[in-house]
Amino acid sequence: MKLNRRSGGFTLMEIVVVMGIISVLFGLFVTMGYVRAKARTTYVACCENLRTIGTGLQLYELEKKRFPNELISLTPYYIRKIPQCPAADVDTYIEGYDTDSETQGNFTVYCQGSYHAPIGIDTNYPQYSYQWGLTEW
Ligand SMILES: [Zn+2]
Repeated sequence: MKLNRRSGGFTLMEIVVVMGIISVLFGLFVTMGYVRAKARTTYVACCENLRTIGTGLQLYELEKKRFPNELISLTPYYIRKIPQCPAADVDTYIEGYDTDSETQGNFTVYCQGSYHAPIGIDTNYPQYSYQWGLTEW
């Protein structure tokens, strides 16, 4: 007795296997998209933190005619507290603050580390400076 195999059709098992592979790949793409969207959201929040700190520094400068030597001098009067980068969950800004020690006419504050590398942002970026505003690469 010889079994005749149908030509041009798929068995139920073949269809189930292909559907399984497709659903695993779909799940993988959805997860990757979610991780990337979350990284982008934390990056935008980090930029907002830097703008907030920059505004606090400019308020300080308006009153004292110079920028502070340390970022912590802004609290609690100019900004309530130094925010944390949501990508890092630790302080990344206090050590990332730099002011021109001679003239104190400029400052740069940045997110120290490479917490935004998953979306292609360089180490120690984003930055915010008095002179250039927000720099994002
Ligand atoms: Zn950050």
